[in-house]
Parts: sequence; C-alpha cells; structure tokens
Amino acid sequence: MKEEINLEIYNTESRKKERITPAPGESTLRMYTCGPTVYNFAHIGNFRTFVFEDLLRRAIKYFGIPLIQVMNFTDVDDKTIAGALKKNLDLKTYTKIYEDAFLEDLKTLEIEPVEIYAAATDYIPEMIEMIETLLKKGIAYVGKDGNIFYSIKEFPSYGRLSHLSLEDLKVGASLRVSTDEYEKESVADFVLWKSYDKERDGSIFWQSPFGPGRPGWHIECSAMATKLLGPSIDIHVGGVDNMFPHHENEIAQSEGCTGKKFVRHWMHSEHLLVDGKKMSKSAGNFYTLRDILEKGITGKEIRYLYLQTHYRTQLNFTLQGLAASRHALSRFRDFIHRLKDIQEGDTFSSGAIIEETRQKFKKALGDDLNVSVALAALFDFIREINARCDEKKISGKDSQELLVFLEEVNRVLGVLPLREKEVEIPADINEAFLGREAARKAKNWKEADHFRDYIHSKGYLIEDSPQGSRIKKAEV
Ligand code: AMP
Ligand code: ZN
Repeated sequence: MKEEINLEIYNTESRKKERITPAPGESTLRMYTCGPTVYNFAHIGNFRTFVFEDLLRRAIKYFGIPLIQVMNFTDVDDKTIAGALKKNLDLKTYTKIYEDAFLEDLKTLEIEPVEIYAAATDYIPEMIEMIETLLKKGIAYVGKDGNIFYSIKEFPSYGRLSHLSLEDLKVGASLRVSTDEYEKESVADFVLWKSYDKERDGSIFWQSPFGPGRPGWHIECSAMATKLLGPSIDIHVGGVDNMFPHHENEIAQSEGCTGKKFVRHWMHSEHLLVDGKKMSKSAGNFYTLRDILEKGITGKEIRYLYLQTHYRTQLNFTLQGLAASRHALSRFRDFIHRLKDIQEGDTFSSGAIIEETRQKFKKALGDDLNVSVALAALFDFIREINARCDEKKISGKDSQELLVFLEEVNRVLGVLPLREKEVEIPADINEAFLGREAARKAKNWKEADHFRDYIHSKGYLIEDSPQGSRIKKAEV
C-alpha cells in the first residue's frame, strides 16, 4: 500500500509543523499574502518572498488542495504618498507604474498569477468600517492630533505571534507610533487613521466620519483579508520583517473587530542577503530584479537560486550561486534534450523509478517545503536514467513517460527548461558542425578537430552521445 504523504508546514505562531488543510467543513483553502508596496521597482529581497509564496501555492495545489489566494498592493502608505508628491503625479498614476512593473517581473520569475490582486485604495470604506467598530468597542481612541490609535492594552494577547510579552513591555496610552513601520523596541499603540496633514499629504486624502485623512498601513491588510476571504483565513504569509509590527497589528485589529481567530497558520520567509550582508542602498548592494537581469542573468536562474535554499534560512545572493544555478539548469536541459531525442521503441520499463522519485519528491515537499531534498531526488533520478540511456535501455515510450513526470514536478518548481526551443544555431556554426560530421565519417580526425575548435571559439559546444551529436551554447 502506498504511504499517504501530507503537506506539513511550520506555523510561526505555534512554532510547530502542522498539516495544511482547508478549515473544518470547508473545501477551499484561503490564503492571504502581503504584497508589494508599489512606490518603486521591487528588489531581489522582495522577490525571494514572492517566489517562496509561489512555491507554497504550487505545492498546496500539487497536494490536491483547492486554493484561493489574495495578494494586495500597498498603494497608499507613507512611502507611496511621498513618492507621488515628489514626482508630482496623482497617487494612482504613480503606483500603477510599479504595479504593472511588478506583474511583469512576476512573469520573468515564472510566478503564477494569484486569484485576486487587491489594491488598498479600492477598500477604504471597509477600512473605515473596521476603525468605526474598534472605536465603538473602546479598542481604538482618538489622539490629540486627530489621529486614531489602536489601544494595545485592550487586546491581551497582543504580541503572541512574535512572542512578545506585554507584561515585560511598559505599554500605555502615552506610547504611540504614527509611522507605518517601527521596531520591536518601540511596541506601542499604533495608528489606524492618520488625519490629513497638508504638508505631508499634498492633496492625497479620503473623507471619513473621523475627518479627512488616510488609513495606516496595518488596517489595510486586515480590511482586505476580511472583505475578500472572510473573518478567518487559513494561511497568512509574508517576509520575516512583516511579523512585527505588521502581522501582530493585523491580528489585533481583525480579532478586536470580529472576535474570531484571524489566521490558523502563519508563515514567514527569512531574508535575502547580498554577499552575506543586509541589502541596503547605503551599502551599495541594493538591486532590483531589473538590475540583475541587465547583467545577463535569466529569471529562471534567479528562481532556481531562490528555490534551493529553505525558506526559513537566510539566502545569500551571490554571483557564484547564480553560476551554480545556471549549471544545474543546464544539466536539466541536457537531460530533457536527451529524452526528446529518443523516439524508437514502445516498451516501458521506467514506471518503478518514476514512482520512487515521485514519492521522494513529494515527501520532501511535504516536510515544510524541503526543496533541496526534492531536487536531490531529481538529480538521482537523472543519473539513473542517464545510465540507462547509455545502455540504450530507454525506449521512446519510456522517454515520453519520463517527460510527463518532469512536467508533473515542474508544476511545483516552475523552473525546468521543458518548453525551451533549441537555441538558434548560426549558419556558419551549423556548417562547421556538418563539416565535422563528414570529416569524422571519413576518419579525417584532424579536419574534424579543426571544425570543433572553430565551433568552440564561437561559444558553442558539441555534445556527442550514443544517439548522435548536437550543438549547444556554452555556459558562460
Ligand atoms: P514591501 O514591498 O516592503 O511591503 O515588501 C514586500 C515583501 O517583501 C514583504 O513580504 C517583505 O517581508 C518582503 N521583504 C522585504 N525585504 C526582504 C528581504 N531582504 N528578503 C526577503 N523578503 C523581503
Ligand atoms: Zn500586509
């Protein structure tokens, strides 16, 4: 009997691996992922988190669980407003530039579109409604400056996600933060609604029962998640920097409003470092995805680099790492071409190895998305099949089934070069290749070597195999 393999994922809140399922009585899993702040092109750190969320999404579906995923665009906050004012554009025109760029970048990284993208500015009435509820319940209050704050002492389990103890923190109404982002050291009442400040906000504001102004960042996600997925959701994901204060505040707001458990399962991915250091503009190691593509690196190479490192470990982004990704992808590419070249024979003898590899792959994924173990199973598989190819034991039928299996695992990885066309070979290279073939047939080795050297000098390689020879582009 086949072993049942489940998807188990680490829950940041319980600090345990737990099985992922829809809520009891539900058939679809509801997942909310904090999206980009659209004030600039997203950087390679952001995309580590977004590739991880894509892997999670694909794994959930691979395990046969129906899914609805929401990703928001933070298109109103301190940074987007400052950016729009600086460029003298209205907020929507300014943020749309970066929303569109983000959707383009997702395609480059083979990230699947989610079911619902939600822009915060389309949900202001829902945010206002939540703030009104919190005011009515006495969990929020109006500060002297007209800003509305969340009173964290009214929510006794505040801090439970990031494991802060309120008792250790001297919190009180005198401690308040009105910026969207702050550190753990400044745990305090946080802002829900910022009253209009002409100098800071230009002409960007919304009317509300509490006067003109705009929402704080944290209430945005609470309102969108509740409106689009209901008061209780199954999985909520973000980068580790989102855990405090953003997700902590989301719990306080949502549960303060609805009285229901907001999220069953919290997940956070660790940060990306560049050459071992925190990425920052001042350190000169800050890169958008577009900066890296300009260096001739492909989206798939970046995606592969991201997938290899477990999401709860910091990922070090280096040129050597990218070169290793390129090399690994070219091993897959060679293998795929080799299989595609086999056409003869209708015996099938690969069923057992496919099934064994599938089990290993699934088991590794099910264990908190252990992709490096899943990839190791695939490389063992490639080695074994290559050995059988050398012995001419792989038939056309085998190769078809093996390719179907690679398609299957690629539903999760999204990175295998299965659909790539053969590289366009320039005419002079092709001619030299045919010349070499003819020289080899005539056992004219010197001339054959001469042709091969010419091909190499132009950056191409000849691969000889029992099925014949082919040209491919050399790795750089
Ligand atoms: P932001 O656009 O700043 O709201 O961030 C979008 C997503 O990227 C959030 O889930 C962040 O937690 C995540 N993020 C930000 N910086 C990094 C980084 N260096 N490494 C990984 N994820 C990050
Ligand atoms: Zn969020």
